[in-house]
Amino acid sequence: MSSGQRWLVKGARPVGGPPADLALADGLIVAAGPGLSAAGAQVIDGTDLIALPGLVDLHTHLREPGREDAETVQSGTEAAALGGYTAVHAMANTDPVADTAGVVEQIWRLGGQAGLCDVRPVGAVTAGLAGAHLAELGAMADSAARVRVFSDDGRCVSDAALMRRALEYVKAFGGVIAQHAQEPRLTEGAQMNEGELSGVLGLTGWPAVAEEAIIARDCLLAAHVGSTLHICHVSTAGSVEIIRWAKSKGWRVTAEVTPHHLLLTDELAASYDPVFKVNPPLRTRADVDAVRAGLADGTIDCVATDHAPHPVEDKETEWPVAAFGMTGLETALRVVHAAMVETGQLDWAAVADRMSVRPAAIGQLTGATADGGAAPAAGPAAPVHGRPLTAGSPANLVLYDPAARSVIDPRLQASRSRNTPFAGLELPGQVVATFLRGEPTVLDGKLAR
Ligand SMILES: [Zn+2]
Ligand SMILES: [Zn+2]
Repeated sequence: MSSGQRWLVKGARPVGGPPADLALADGLIVAAGPGLSAAGAQVIDGTDLIALPGLVDLHTHLREPGREDAETVQSGTEAAALGGYTAVHAMANTDPVADTAGVVEQIWRLGGQAGLCDVRPVGAVTAGLAGAHLAELGAMADSAARVRVFSDDGRCVSDAALMRRALEYVKAFGGVIAQHAQEPRLTEGAQMNEGELSGVLGLTGWPAVAEEAIIARDCLLAAHVGSTLHICHVSTAGSVEIIRWAKSKGWRVTAEVTPHHLLLTDELAASYDPVFKVNPPLRTRADVDAVRAGLADGTIDCVATDHAPHPVEDKETEWPVAAFGMTGLETALRVVHAAMVETGQLDWAAVADRMSVRPAAIGQLTGATADGGAAPAAGPAAPVHGRPLTAGSPANLVLYDPAARSVIDPRLQASRSRNTPFAGLELPGQVVATFLRGEPTVLDGKLAR
């Protein structure tokens, strides 16, 4: 661990509370409180800035290996750092698929070389994402990458028996299966949310029931097996109801919502601009209201970006042939600010919970095991995230200016792709600085290295 420059952040407001100083050294927060001084430290004036624990994304597509024209581990983690993230989970739908110890270790090493945020590879559930046979889940868990989250994201594990076996398998080492809930037969050729508008626009509909049926099934399977299920990108009001019911039973089910599903509706499809084409699709205003309420009351545990970069030629084409997906790392905190904080549904402490503490817990990065005990001494240690901004915690944090406002310009983003649905939109806030284990990755809103 680096023992380089010491830093003193003066007068920022930890999770939106009263101002305090934070002294950073040797990768840790070494002191937190009013009136600190630190000889020889670089001082950052944190007046009017919010300090949050470094954000943790459970759902990022970094595209490397295989689609380096869309994103690389380097460019994707630059985007992450600029968005205030200190850890991202890299989805497995790369080429080759991250379904062996070798591939997940390659992605993990590339993340370490970039050094901008911790890259936690997600392992595929099924070999080649083909949905036929389980991938080498145990070998990926035991690898240097120490995989704990498994997902065929981009595809649904639609075979119920295979899903059951996957849940049983990861139970042995406390892993979690993250499901992309999409019943394939109900969504053949689907292009946008199924509703009045899809009929008007002549685009094949993606019905809410195709998501909700899989979520209900998998909650029941997770309960039956006694294993842990995470539900990716919840997008419908019915899904929120089902998850609320499953949690009321005490089942080990967690869920995420994307920034775009918190802010945007299916009416944007009327533009036929494929920048608004995403899977699951943008839904109705009632669905947006329901996912916001679910995130506010904790039914939905966390915000995850589903950052899905695509090159121009795959997005700037006709809607029916355009790729699904939106970038999100560089705008997530600002979108949550607009959708949840400015509307009074979350305070900054709750934002820290939904964007750092809980996703770190689901990804098993809080330094404790799933059952609350200490992490085992054997094997490579996972990095620690989602800890409070107090002395002794790793110095993973973001400084955010809530009073700033600016228009989103994709040309100014670090992502190699430009498919942000927020282009041209004025959003509140600005990430001023991001620290990873006491070293700045972002300073003055720009990459620090
Ligand atoms: Zn997905
Ligand atoms: Zn995804």
